[in-house]
Amino acid sequence: MARQRKPNAELLSDLVAANHILFNEGVVDGFGHVSARDDRDSGRFLLARSIAPGTVTTRDIMEFDLEGEPVDARGRRPYLERFIHSEIYRLRPDVQAIVHSHSPSVVPYGVTGMHLRPIFHMSGFLGAVTPIFEIRDAGGPATDMLIRDRKLGAALARTLGSATFALMRGHGSVAVGAGIRQVVYRAIYAEVNAKLQLEASRLGEITFLNDQEAARAMATNDGVLDRPWELWKRRVKTLR
Ligand SMILES: [Zn+2]
Repeated sequence: MARQRKPNAELLSDLVAANHILFNEGVVDGFGHVSARDDRDSGRFLLARSIAPGTVTTRDIMEFDLEGEPVDARGRRPYLERFIHSEIYRLRPDVQAIVHSHSPSVVPYGVTGMHLRPIFHMSGFLGAVTPIFEIRDAGGPATDMLIRDRKLGAALARTLGSATFALMRGHGSVAVGAGIRQVVYRAIYAEVNAKLQLEASRLGEITFLNDQEAARAMATNDGVLDRPWELWKRRVKTLR
Protein backbone atom coordinates (compact mmCIF):
# COMPACT_ATOMS: atom_id res chain seq x y z
CA MET A 1 0.00 0.00 0.00
CA ALA A 2 1.20 3.49 -0.83
CA ARG A 3 2.56 5.41 2.15
CA GLN A 4 -0.01 7.87 3.46
CA ARG A 5 1.01 11.49 3.21
CA LYS A 6 0.01 13.20 6.44
CA PRO A 7 -2.19 16.33 6.33
CA ASN A 8 -0.84 19.56 7.83
CA ALA A 9 -1.11 19.27 11.64
CA GLU A 10 -2.11 22.92 12.07
CA LEU A 11 -4.91 22.57 9.52
CA LEU A 12 -6.14 19.44 11.32
CA SER A 13 -6.19 21.14 14.70
CA ASP A 14 -8.03 24.20 13.26
CA LEU A 15 -10.59 21.87 11.70
CA VAL A 16 -11.17 20.11 15.02
CA ALA A 17 -11.50 23.52 16.73
CA ALA A 18 -13.96 24.64 14.03
CA ASN A 19 -16.18 21.63 14.76
CA HIS A 20 -16.31 22.47 18.47
CA ILE A 21 -16.75 26.23 17.97
CA LEU A 22 -19.66 25.77 15.56
CA PHE A 23 -21.36 23.49 18.08
CA ASN A 24 -20.67 25.85 20.98
CA GLU A 25 -22.03 28.85 19.04
CA GLY A 26 -25.24 27.05 18.08
CA VAL A 27 -24.59 26.70 14.35
CA VAL A 28 -24.43 22.89 14.34
CA ASP A 29 -25.92 20.37 16.78
CA GLY A 30 -25.85 16.61 16.31
CA PHE A 31 -25.89 17.36 12.59
CA GLY A 32 -24.01 19.63 10.23
CA HIS A 33 -20.34 19.55 9.23
CA VAL A 34 -17.28 21.62 8.39
CA SER A 35 -14.52 20.70 5.93
CA ALA A 36 -11.20 22.13 4.73
CA ARG A 37 -9.39 21.63 1.44
CA ASP A 38 -6.06 19.86 1.93
CA ASP A 39 -3.48 22.65 1.64
CA ARG A 40 -0.91 20.13 0.36
CA ASP A 41 -3.17 18.61 -2.30
CA SER A 42 -5.98 20.76 -3.77
CA GLY A 43 -7.68 17.63 -5.13
CA ARG A 44 -8.50 16.45 -1.62
CA PHE A 45 -10.37 17.70 1.41
CA LEU A 46 -10.66 16.88 5.11
CA LEU A 47 -13.95 16.14 6.85
CA ALA A 48 -14.84 14.27 10.05
CA ARG A 49 -16.38 10.82 10.03
CA SER A 50 -20.14 10.67 10.61
CA ILE A 51 -20.34 11.88 14.23
CA ALA A 52 -21.63 14.97 16.07
CA PRO A 53 -19.28 17.94 15.43
CA GLY A 54 -18.94 18.69 19.15
CA THR A 55 -17.25 15.31 19.70
CA VAL A 56 -14.73 15.40 16.81
CA THR A 57 -11.02 14.70 17.48
CA THR A 58 -8.11 14.55 15.01
CA ARG A 59 -8.52 10.78 14.79
CA ASP A 60 -12.01 11.29 13.34
CA ILE A 61 -10.83 13.45 10.43
CA MET A 62 -10.95 11.57 7.12
CA GLU A 63 -9.54 12.56 3.75
CA PHE A 64 -11.67 12.55 0.58
CA ASP A 65 -11.07 13.03 -3.12
CA LEU A 66 -13.21 15.41 -5.19
CA GLU A 67 -15.57 12.59 -6.14
CA GLY A 68 -16.51 12.43 -2.44
CA GLU A 69 -14.80 9.06 -1.93
CA PRO A 70 -12.68 8.40 1.19
CA VAL A 71 -8.96 8.05 0.49
CA ASP A 72 -8.31 5.73 3.43
CA ALA A 73 -11.54 5.04 5.36
CA ARG A 74 -10.08 2.46 7.82
CA GLY A 75 -13.60 1.40 8.79
CA ARG A 76 -14.77 4.93 9.54
CA ARG A 77 -18.23 5.82 8.21
CA PRO A 78 -18.44 9.09 6.22
CA TYR A 79 -21.25 11.66 6.27
CA LEU A 80 -23.98 10.96 3.70
CA GLU A 81 -23.85 14.60 2.59
CA ARG A 82 -20.12 14.74 1.85
CA PHE A 83 -21.03 15.52 -1.80
CA ILE A 84 -21.94 19.07 -0.71
CA HIS A 85 -18.23 19.55 -0.04
CA SER A 86 -16.70 17.58 -2.93
CA GLU A 87 -18.78 19.27 -5.62
CA ILE A 88 -18.26 22.81 -4.28
CA TYR A 89 -14.49 22.22 -4.10
CA ARG A 90 -14.61 20.99 -7.71
CA LEU A 91 -16.48 24.02 -8.99
CA ARG A 92 -14.82 26.69 -6.83
CA PRO A 93 -10.99 26.60 -6.78
CA ASP A 94 -11.04 29.69 -4.51
CA VAL A 95 -12.93 27.84 -1.76
CA GLN A 96 -10.72 26.38 0.99
CA ALA A 97 -13.35 25.63 3.65
CA ILE A 98 -17.07 24.84 3.81
CA VAL A 99 -19.72 24.71 6.55
CA HIS A 100 -23.03 22.94 6.06
CA SER A 101 -25.58 23.48 8.80
CA HIS A 102 -29.25 23.54 9.69
CA SER A 103 -28.78 26.61 11.92
CA PRO A 104 -32.37 27.39 12.86
CA SER A 105 -32.76 31.15 12.31
CA VAL A 106 -31.59 30.83 8.70
CA VAL A 107 -34.07 28.12 7.65
CA PRO A 108 -37.17 30.38 7.36
CA TYR A 109 -35.47 32.45 4.62
CA GLY A 110 -35.18 29.37 2.44
CA VAL A 111 -38.92 28.70 2.48
CA THR A 112 -40.47 32.18 2.16
CA GLY A 113 -40.20 35.19 -0.10
CA MET A 114 -38.12 36.99 2.56
CA HIS A 115 -34.55 37.24 1.22
CA LEU A 116 -31.63 36.91 3.62
CA ARG A 117 -29.66 40.14 3.16
CA PRO A 118 -26.89 41.96 5.07
CA ILE A 119 -28.53 43.94 7.85
CA PHE A 120 -25.26 45.11 9.46
CA HIS A 121 -21.56 45.38 8.72
CA MET A 122 -20.68 42.01 10.27
CA SER A 123 -22.55 40.16 7.52
CA GLY A 124 -21.45 42.10 4.45
CA PHE A 125 -20.25 38.77 3.03
CA LEU A 126 -23.90 37.90 2.31
CA GLY A 127 -23.79 40.37 -0.59
CA ALA A 128 -26.82 41.45 -2.59
CA VAL A 129 -28.26 38.02 -3.34
CA THR A 130 -28.36 34.88 -1.21
CA PRO A 131 -29.18 32.07 -3.64
CA ILE A 132 -31.73 29.42 -2.69
CA PHE A 133 -31.21 25.81 -3.73
CA GLU A 134 -34.44 24.04 -4.72
CA ILE A 135 -33.78 20.31 -4.50
CA ARG A 136 -36.93 19.50 -6.53
CA ASP A 137 -35.31 21.05 -9.60
CA ALA A 138 -32.39 18.61 -9.42
CA GLY A 139 -33.84 15.57 -7.63
CA GLY A 140 -37.60 15.64 -8.32
CA PRO A 141 -40.50 15.92 -5.87
CA ALA A 142 -39.74 12.93 -3.62
CA THR A 143 -36.20 13.23 -2.20
CA ASP A 144 -35.42 13.04 1.54
CA MET A 145 -33.94 16.57 1.10
CA LEU A 146 -30.35 15.32 1.60
CA ILE A 147 -27.45 15.87 -0.79
CA ARG A 148 -26.67 12.18 -1.00
CA ASP A 149 -24.96 11.94 -4.40
CA ARG A 150 -22.68 13.79 -6.79
CA LYS A 151 -25.51 14.95 -9.03
CA LEU A 152 -27.31 16.76 -6.20
CA GLY A 153 -24.01 18.15 -4.92
CA ALA A 154 -23.18 19.53 -8.36
CA ALA A 155 -26.62 21.16 -8.63
CA LEU A 156 -26.15 22.79 -5.23
CA ALA A 157 -22.68 24.03 -6.22
CA ARG A 158 -24.13 25.58 -9.40
CA THR A 159 -26.82 27.36 -7.37
CA LEU A 160 -24.15 28.71 -5.00
CA GLY A 161 -22.27 30.03 -8.04
CA SER A 162 -19.79 32.69 -6.97
CA ALA A 163 -21.66 33.52 -3.73
CA THR A 164 -20.35 33.01 -0.17
CA PHE A 165 -23.58 31.63 1.25
CA ALA A 166 -26.57 29.68 -0.09
CA LEU A 167 -29.83 28.59 1.46
CA MET A 168 -31.17 25.10 0.91
CA ARG A 169 -34.98 25.12 0.85
CA GLY A 170 -36.48 23.08 3.68
CA HIS A 171 -33.06 21.96 4.90
CA GLY A 172 -30.40 24.51 5.88
CA SER A 173 -27.51 26.36 4.34
CA VAL A 174 -23.96 26.25 3.12
CA ALA A 175 -21.20 28.81 3.76
CA VAL A 176 -17.89 28.87 1.91
CA GLY A 177 -14.64 30.72 2.55
CA ALA A 178 -10.98 31.12 1.75
CA GLY A 179 -10.03 29.45 5.04
CA ILE A 180 -11.41 27.76 8.16
CA ARG A 181 -11.51 30.93 10.28
CA GLN A 182 -13.36 32.86 7.59
CA VAL A 183 -15.97 30.18 6.98
CA VAL A 184 -16.62 29.75 10.71
CA TYR A 185 -17.09 33.52 10.99
CA ARG A 186 -19.53 33.46 8.07
CA ALA A 187 -21.58 30.55 9.40
CA ILE A 188 -21.89 32.24 12.82
CA TYR A 189 -22.76 35.70 11.48
CA ALA A 190 -25.25 34.38 8.92
CA GLU A 191 -27.19 32.99 11.88
CA VAL A 192 -26.86 36.30 13.78
CA ASN A 193 -27.98 38.24 10.67
CA ALA A 194 -31.02 35.98 10.26
CA LYS A 195 -32.14 36.70 13.84
CA LEU A 196 -31.59 40.46 13.54
CA GLN A 197 -33.37 40.64 10.20
CA LEU A 198 -36.44 38.99 11.69
CA GLU A 199 -36.38 41.39 14.66
CA ALA A 200 -36.02 44.41 12.39
CA SER A 201 -38.80 43.26 10.09
CA ARG A 202 -41.18 43.43 13.05
CA LEU A 203 -40.38 47.11 13.54
CA GLY A 204 -40.67 48.35 10.00
CA GLU A 205 -39.07 48.55 6.58
CA ILE A 206 -35.39 47.57 6.64
CA THR A 207 -32.54 49.53 5.07
CA PHE A 208 -30.00 46.86 4.15
CA LEU A 209 -26.34 47.46 3.34
CA ASN A 210 -25.96 48.34 -0.33
CA ASP A 211 -23.47 46.44 -2.53
CA GLN A 212 -20.56 48.79 -1.90
CA GLU A 213 -21.13 48.91 1.84
CA ALA A 214 -21.39 45.12 1.96
CA ALA A 215 -18.17 44.62 -0.03
CA ARG A 216 -16.18 47.15 2.01
CA ALA A 217 -17.44 45.83 5.34
CA MET A 218 -16.50 42.30 4.28
CA ALA A 219 -12.97 43.39 3.35
CA THR A 220 -12.49 45.13 6.70
CA ASN A 221 -13.76 42.18 8.74
CA ASP A 222 -11.66 39.71 6.74
CA GLY A 223 -8.62 41.50 8.14
CA VAL A 224 -9.51 40.74 11.77
CA LEU A 225 -10.72 37.14 11.68
CA ASP A 226 -8.20 35.99 14.28
CA ARG A 227 -9.80 38.11 17.00
CA PRO A 228 -13.21 36.40 17.21
CA TRP A 229 -11.59 33.01 16.43
CA GLU A 230 -9.43 33.19 19.58
CA LEU A 231 -12.46 34.20 21.66
CA TRP A 232 -14.67 31.45 20.24
CA LYS A 233 -11.91 28.92 20.89
CA ARG A 234 -11.49 30.05 24.48
CA ARG A 235 -15.23 29.64 25.09
CA VAL A 236 -15.08 25.95 24.14
CA LYS A 237 -14.56 23.82 27.25
CA THR A 238 -13.74 20.70 25.22
CA LEU A 239 -10.70 22.45 23.69
CA ARG A 240 -9.09 23.41 27.00
ZN1 LIG B 1 -27.92 18.64 5.97
